[in-house]
Amino acid sequence: MRRISTLLVAGLCAGIFSLHTPAQAAAEMSLMRLADCGTPQAPVPVNERFSDTFSYGDLKIQFVFSCYLIKHGDQYLLWDTGHSMTAPNVAPKVSIVDQLDKIGVKPEQITYVGISHYHADHTGQVASFPKATLLIGVGDWNAITAPNPAPGVNFKPFEGWIKGDNKVEPQPNDKDVFGDGSVIMLNTPGHTPGHHSLLVKLPQMGSVVISGDAVHFRENYDNNGVPRFNSDRSQTLASIERLKGIVATFKAALIIQHDARDIDKLPAFPTAAK
Ligand SMILES: [Zn+2]
Repeated sequence: MRRISTLLVAGLCAGIFSLHTPAQAAAEMSLMRLADCGTPQAPVPVNERFSDTFSYGDLKIQFVFSCYLIKHGDQYLLWDTGHSMTAPNVAPKVSIVDQLDKIGVKPEQITYVGISHYHADHTGQVASFPKATLLIGVGDWNAITAPNPAPGVNFKPFEGWIKGDNKVEPQPNDKDVFGDGSVIMLNTPGHTPGHHSLLVKLPQMGSVVISGDAVHFRENYDNNGVPRFNSDRSQTLASIERLKGIVATFKAALIIQHDARDIDKLPAFPTAAK
C-alpha cells in the first residue's frame, strides 16, 4: 500500500513538475516590411469615400500598399500579397517572389499566407505561393467561393485553393498562427465580413499590430471613421475599439498598412525588426 501511494505521489509530482519544466527556447522571430507591394499614387481627398459622417473636409491622404514577412524559427508567414504585377498604375515594380529571392527565401518556404481581406490590393500575388497554407477569415473565404462573387471580391488569384489543389484554413475567429501566442490573426470584421488584423509579439521591439484595412489612415483610427464602402458599420466600430484595446494592453506599435506616415515604424527592407 505504502509502495502504491509512493508511486502515486511520485507520479503526481512528475505531473506537477512537467508543468514547471522550462519551456523550449522561444523561436527566433523577425518582422520585415517588404519594399514594394504596389506603387503609391498622388494624395487623394478622403472625405467622400472614407468617412460616412463626412468628417475629413479637405484632407488628402497618400495611400501606400504594404505586405509583411514574419519569420518564426524556420517557418514564414507572408501577411498580405499586395497588388498584382499587372494592376494598372499601381502594380509593384518588383514582385514579392523577386523581393524574397533577394533575402534568400524561396516561395515554397512560405508556410502560411495570411490574407487580411479579399480586396485586390491585398491579394494580387497570392497565386505565387501555391504551397502555402492560406489563412483567411471565413466570411471572406465564403465571399471568394460564392457562385457569383460580389464586385470587389478578388477571387481569381485564389483558384488553386478554390479548386482544392492548395490548402486553406478559413478562420471563424482569431488564429494563433504558430501555436505559441507570438503571432495572432485578430478577427476584426467590418471592412469586409471576414477581415483580420495581425498581432506580432517581437522579443526586442515588443508588440506590433498590423491593421489590415480595419482602418486606412491615422485619422480613421483616431476618430472612428467608417468608410462608406465597408461591409458593416457596427462591426467596423467594434473592430476599431478592439484594436485600440489591444494596442493599449500590449503597448503595441500600430502600423496602418495604407498610411505612408507609418512606413518608418519598421526598418527599411531588407532589415527586419526583431
Ligand atoms: Zn480593403
